Amino acid sequence: MSERPTEKTLAEQAPANHECRLCGYVYEPKKGDAKGNIDPGTPFEDLPITWRCPVCGARSNQFSNVGATNAPSGFQENLNYGFGVNNLTPGQKNLLIFGGLALGFLFFLSLYGLN
Ligand SMILES: [Zn+2]
Repeated sequence: MSERPTEKTLAEQAPANHECRLCGYVYEPKKGDAKGNIDPGTPFEDLPITWRCPVCGARSNQFSNVGATNAPSGFQENLNYGFGVNNLTPGQKNLLIFGGLALGFLFFLSLYGLN
């Protein structure tokens, strides 16, 4: 029988980004947080407990693991908790949001054109 691959997924290798559930700010370990004197390369788990969201001041326990950049799907079962949007990269979320807005705007324009 075939052996199960033991390599880790990209999402597991790279330190995971964490998104503030209150304001949507995303902490990226590779960037760190200049405002909070966090050096680039600091994993979220290693942030000091005094660290707060640089945008809204939320504590770190208000953050959700959203996976590593550009690696939205590691193991599916780890990503299906909470909201379904956890499967989306931030770029895909933006596309969803702004695509929805654009569609609404086009719909509005089409109504306007009928008058
Ligand atoms: Zn925040």
